[in-house]
Amino acid sequence: MKNISILGSTGSIGTQSLDVVDKDNELKVAALTAYKNTDLIESQIRKYKPKFAAMYDENCAADLKVRVKDTDTVVLSGEEGVCECARQGEMAVTAIVGIAGLRPTLAAIESGSDIALSNKETLVTAGDYVMNFAREKGVKIVPVDSEHSAIFQSIANQDKFVERIIITASGGPFFGKKREELVDVTAQDALKHPNWSMGAKITIDSSTLVNKGLEIIEAMHLFGVDVDNIVPVVHRQSIVHSLVEFCDGSVIGQFGVPDMKLPISYALHYPQRSIKVSERLDLARIGTLTFAEIDHEAFPSVNMAKAAARCGGTMPAVFNGANEEAVAMFLKGQCRFGDITEYISYAMDKHSVEKASCIEAIEEADRFARQMVREAAGL
Ligand code: NDP
Repeated sequence: MKNISILGSTGSIGTQSLDVVDKDNELKVAALTAYKNTDLIESQIRKYKPKFAAMYDENCAADLKVRVKDTDTVVLSGEEGVCECARQGEMAVTAIVGIAGLRPTLAAIESGSDIALSNKETLVTAGDYVMNFAREKGVKIVPVDSEHSAIFQSIANQDKFVERIIITASGGPFFGKKREELVDVTAQDALKHPNWSMGAKITIDSSTLVNKGLEIIEAMHLFGVDVDNIVPVVHRQSIVHSLVEFCDGSVIGQFGVPDMKLPISYALHYPQRSIKVSERLDLARIGTLTFAEIDHEAFPSVNMAKAAARCGGTMPAVFNGANEEAVAMFLKGQCRFGDITEYISYAMDKHSVEKASCIEAIEEADRFARQMVREAAGL
């Protein structure tokens, strides 16, 4: 039996992690956390009977406490409550969205809990700090993101022979469109991902290709590969989840149906593998796998992310924070689709880079980026 805590249990990755637990008799839920979704976390508490649960929102936590007072689950609140839950498992699934996942991930590492890393913003904003901290604590970080899980599986402990990483991108709902056609697309259009059903923020990030930029920075930290040796390629079918090119020219990739339960289950069981959690891949039925270049003119975000990574220090936190703020505004109808990358670029231009030597410096850069986005939007 492995005790796991699921941070962000009410979201897309959180609920799919619980689907994996349902099919698996080797996993037990130690703690669950959410932001505001009291109804769903209440039903999860009743089903999985965790020792602890937390809600980031204090009022929702007070409400939840009353609702589940007939159970043995202790309800905590606020960031510290979420961090306490992060300390409960042998492994924490970090499925909170955004930089809000950073401190809970650090709390899990501090306690010696291994990490099934879904919250990519943690490594984007604080990659060096988090990777060093995990090494110091002897904690394993196993990626959940399908691309990173594919890279991790393809490397298979042959790190020293890796030359390049080829990271695949579905291309999102606007693949093939030109920059001028994208300025005014709606949130409703952007939320229609061709292959994956995910939370709203990452779905918008996939439509701008910011997600691929974030993933390139995440991969740089996870696998210690130079950002210029991480090459994105559009693969519309989302069957080849990413590939690794070794020094002898061999390219090894991982294939699978597009179902997040696969990489979630892999991370939870690593270095073992578990029972089948999703459909088998039927290549003959799929027939054709295609690969194409990214149109960097229409989707400038990948090169912006690479520039932020090359710059280093607090710049990736600015790239990320500006994006989080702009996406939230776009979803509220406060800016146009085309403004998202414009605002990120504005925030990066205004930022004087500092060393990302402590979490406070990273959080300060995040605040600065959000303020710059509001300034650019005239809010
Ligand atoms: P969702 O929006 O579906 O879920 C987010 C979860 O985080 C919810 O449980 C939410 O609670 C909670 N949450 C939101 N804000 C806060 C906060 N401030 N403090 C504490 N908890 C909070 O996101 P996804 O599951 O789509 O994504 C989660 C992470 O996984 C992201 O970093 C994403 O990039 C990454 N990822 C997601 C994939 C996917 O297929 N969805 C694939 C690969 C990576 P509540 O429900 O109460 O609001």
